[in-house]
Amino acid sequence: MVRVRFAPSPTGPLHIGGVRTALYNYLFARQQGGKMILRIEDTDQTRFVPGAEQYIIEALDWLGIKFDEGVHIGGPYGPYRQSDRKPMYRQYADQLIADGWAYYAFDKPEALEAKRKEYEAQKKTFQYDCNTRGGMENSLSLGMEEAQRRIDAGEPYVVRFKFPDNIDITVHDLIRGDVTMNSRLLDDKVLFKSDGMPTYHLANIVDDHTMEITHVIRGEEWLPSAPLHVMLYKAFGWEAPQFAHLPLLLKPEGNGKLSKRDGDRLGFPVFPLEWHDPKSGEISSGYREKGYLPEAVVNMLALLGWNPGKREGDNGANPVYQEIMSMDELIKLFNIEHISKNGAKFNLDKAKWFNHEYFQKLSDEEVASYLEAQMKEHGVAADHAYVVKVAGMMKERITFPSELWETCCYFFVAPTEYNEKDVAKRWTPDMHIHMQKVIDILNSVPFEYEAIHKALLDDYIAANGLNTGKVMNSLRIAVVGRTVGPDMITLVMMLGKEETIRRVNRAIEKIKVN
Ligand code: GLU
Repeated sequence: MVRVRFAPSPTGPLHIGGVRTALYNYLFARQQGGKMILRIEDTDQTRFVPGAEQYIIEALDWLGIKFDEGVHIGGPYGPYRQSDRKPMYRQYADQLIADGWAYYAFDKPEALEAKRKEYEAQKKTFQYDCNTRGGMENSLSLGMEEAQRRIDAGEPYVVRFKFPDNIDITVHDLIRGDVTMNSRLLDDKVLFKSDGMPTYHLANIVDDHTMEITHVIRGEEWLPSAPLHVMLYKAFGWEAPQFAHLPLLLKPEGNGKLSKRDGDRLGFPVFPLEWHDPKSGEISSGYREKGYLPEAVVNMLALLGWNPGKREGDNGANPVYQEIMSMDELIKLFNIEHISKNGAKFNLDKAKWFNHEYFQKLSDEEVASYLEAQMKEHGVAADHAYVVKVAGMMKERITFPSELWETCCYFFVAPTEYNEKDVAKRWTPDMHIHMQKVIDILNSVPFEYEAIHKALLDDYIAANGLNTGKVMNSLRIAVVGRTVGPDMITLVMMLGKEETIRRVNRAIEKIKVN
């Protein structure tokens, strides 16, 4: 039974890199018929940010990344928040000490700082490890009896892992293959702190084991910690889960990790939902509030670092793999083997492209409900069926719902201003005469598409050798206010005869050219 977990720390809003990690875990779990668990890793109380846990839950829920067990829904392996599991970690630290895999260390922060300085002065870096631990204040250098006396006397201490000297530790990674590191490069990490809380490393391993996690799928930034984790499993005599370390999400230019500042700089969110920082009051934009559809965000993120492989029978076509995939299709196609080893560059145009594609999948009714909300904000009302028709006609021009009003407003309100550039380009002095003629035509022919088309374009414009672009665009200026919009006769049919004539009359009156 596959069991995976997403294990964020509630230190702020969830970065979209973290969302991708959650997504890959979810896709894998669903495909394997396994379970997906949400565990909150809040052992570092100094970095705790109120509201972050709620934010994470809301964001993943918005995206349709569902959990089978977790901090918000409970489950048979709970509690799922590490601070609520606090009493259970101590025994594991004790066990490691009893088995010689860990030791007590009493070094005061000032003593550690002094050591660091001493090494720096010699252009070296201090590391608490097999070479230096003998010269520090710990139960190995002082002896267990003295250590116990200090503990009984209430002296603060931490528990550190004791790496064996000079052994090669291999992490089997499902994406990178074997990654080997020598223990001499690794420091004796703190596992348990003087405040009675475990550190991330101990809690993470104990929880993954006791929650029977089979696959650890997480960001590449945890790869350097993986040898310690492998050693911890060994020390406990537990079977380690399988590891898969995901490539980084890179800046659009490709140099370095995608950061919050890149988002601000280039105008795209790096967080799923808008985040209001409780301390600074700073607001960071979110995909949801920017008008991205959750399905588009999921699809885009899935392809940042993974692809479903070549389409069968597809030779040299571009793109070589299917790009638009629903959550169900992603679940079907997802595989760890196709996750890239290299970082994936974020691409804003692609993000917009996905949103545009998914926007087209919305029904006219759904698009209309976005539009109606915006109409309400502008104090405009219209017949629902008419709004639905406008929505259907115009949605192909829309990437974000917020563009709807701006794109469609002239279906509901007559222009009060006329774009100067368009007027200068199209509305020659004779247009007043031609627009009057348009009114006459509308008044004299049946109000039907074909009839108007013929009377206007063939019998008037063509027959008199007029410039079609100029006349039709002047009509457009009169009706829309500028030279944008759908097919002109269709627009006239939508607005109706009276309204069209009213708009043309107004333009004749208002537009002054000489
Ligand atoms: N709490 C860690 C984080 O915030 C989880 C790392 C892991 O998945 O092991 O990224």
